[in-house]
Amino acid sequence: MMEQMSAALQVAVERESIYRGIELERQKFYERSIRDPLTGLFTRFYMEDTLRRLFEIHDRSGGTPVALAMLDVDHFKRVNDRYGHVRGDEVLCRVAHIIQADARAGDLPVRLGGEEFGLIVVGEPAVDIASVAERLRRKIASTRFQGSFSGLRVTISTGTALRQVGESIAGFIERADLALYQAKNLGRNRVC
Ligand code: GH3
Ligand code: MG
Ligand code: MG
Repeated sequence: MMEQMSAALQVAVERESIYRGIELERQKFYERSIRDPLTGLFTRFYMEDTLRRLFEIHDRSGGTPVALAMLDVDHFKRVNDRYGHVRGDEVLCRVAHIIQADARAGDLPVRLGGEEFGLIVVGEPAVDIASVAERLRRKIASTRFQGSFSGLRVTISTGTALRQVGESIAGFIERADLALYQAKNLGRNRVC
């Protein structure tokens, strides 16, 4: 009887350990899908997931504003050309760090891909997204990249949009993107 019991117990323990392994794998996979490995910021995938949830609340209550700032590093190709791709990555990490450090609790900093970043702002500050973005633009423009970068400065162009009730995710992102395009065309290092 003792032998039978211990066999059953062993099966239960093994099963438990398999389930735990699967759960850990699942968590690891999820973490990877929501975090950009280079900068540690959230991914575009996670941003769209979050926007979906925020838009539901916005449409229901109409009371919680949601805004997006899309940031693109100006002439980043030149940074790569001058310092190489690896050091270019380092610049991207530092820019990401400034965005993260500047973000307030509840803001969602994202790496959209390449040298493009996003910041979702929710609640009252969203209404004044232009000021939030302008503060960030100044902070980045005034940063000197020390060490092997010997005082390099980079600037960003930003497009912002405040979500309208009923607006789709694609439509909302496109508006911010168009504003970013405008910021580039008007000479860069500015917020539109
Ligand atoms: P603009 O002001 O018009 O945005 O000019 P730009 O040079 O920043 O833009 P462009 O789209 O011409 O070039 C983007 C560059 O960003 C080219 C590409 O090699 C570089 N890039 C994209 N992703 C990465 C990355 O993950 N690491 C590094 N180091 N470079 C990247
Ligand atoms: Mg770009
Ligand atoms: Mg660029």
